[in-house]
Amino acid sequence: MSPAELLVSLVSTRSLSGEEGPLADLVQAHLAAQGFAVHRQGHNLWFTFGRKGGPRLLLNSHLDTVPPCAGWEGDPFTPTWHGARLQGLGANDAKGCVAAIILAASALSQQNLNGEVVVALTAEEETGGQGLATILGQLGPLDGAVVGEPTGLRVCAAQRGLLVLKCTARGQSGHVAHAQMLGAVNAIHKAARDIARVAAMEFPAHPLLGSQKAQVTQISGGLRRNQVPDACEFFVDLRTGPDQDHAALAAAFQQQLESEVSIHSQRYLPKATAPEHPLVRAALEAAGKAGPVGSGTTSDWAFLGEVPAVKAGPGDTFRSHQANEYLTLPELEAGIAFYAGLATTFFRLLVPR
Ligand SMILES: [Zn+2]
Repeated sequence: MSPAELLVSLVSTRSLSGEEGPLADLVQAHLAAQGFAVHRQGHNLWFTFGRKGGPRLLLNSHLDTVPPCAGWEGDPFTPTWHGARLQGLGANDAKGCVAAIILAASALSQQNLNGEVVVALTAEEETGGQGLATILGQLGPLDGAVVGEPTGLRVCAAQRGLLVLKCTARGQSGHVAHAQMLGAVNAIHKAARDIARVAAMEFPAHPLLGSQKAQVTQISGGLRRNQVPDACEFFVDLRTGPDQDHAALAAAFQQQLESEVSIHSQRYLPKATAPEHPLVRAALEAAGKAGPVGSGTTSDWAFLGEVPAVKAGPGDTFRSHQANEYLTLPELEAGIAFYAGLATTFFRLLVPR
């Protein structure tokens, strides 16, 4: 199957998060026909090849897509060519990466490798559910990992995490007309003071990720127009840097705010791999890039624990989750060469001949 044919078959197989079964079937059959011994759990697939006992490199990307948004020209599930561009849901995020990894694996499996490649094509990346995190323990020890996401083959060596704080301002309710006499305490006023404090907070900048502000993203409070509210709740979304500890951050918020602060979600951990790590060097060499970049969006890298990793793949993050997303054939071809080159270079750096 040519790269173009493989990408078309992936994009034309619907695979919204949680509904990856048909695509996992198709990919599993394609890989088995090439002689790979494919393991499967749920809608997650993985297989290994190369030299056992050598360094082990994970190539990962995700099979699922978000649901189509408004604004698509034509059916998002029917891939269409516009010159060298293939347009369709998931073409960019991340079926181009999946196709490139499959084709790189085919090429690599014909070579005499200095290490072992582990390929994992996983589910529910977009919803953080039954995906890579659930099979990681079965992949064995890993010396490096590449998370395939559309980065224009820029090598992301730092990725922001996500900390969501739930803040609850408490007051004392009462009829508005008697508020002063009753000593009512307006929880919305209290929340407003705290929100101004959150908006003014500064966080240290990261060399690859730059600086970041906390954002208040939701607020609710008050039952009646004539009653002083006794509670107001708001959520804070902070994209964290690799040198920021989520628990320490939550404690710092609690110290500065009048509201009660609790951690609503912190499972997307911030990640970074040192620029001089052999994995980053191998990725930069394979991509022909001078230095690594940072990425503000999270990915399955968040669940890889201590495994050194980078995020890189063909396509463009700004096309993701947008109408009319596409991947070009030259981008796909470059992606195949990138994953194959990264693996051989990584093994060469770890096991010099
Ligand atoms: Zn993605």
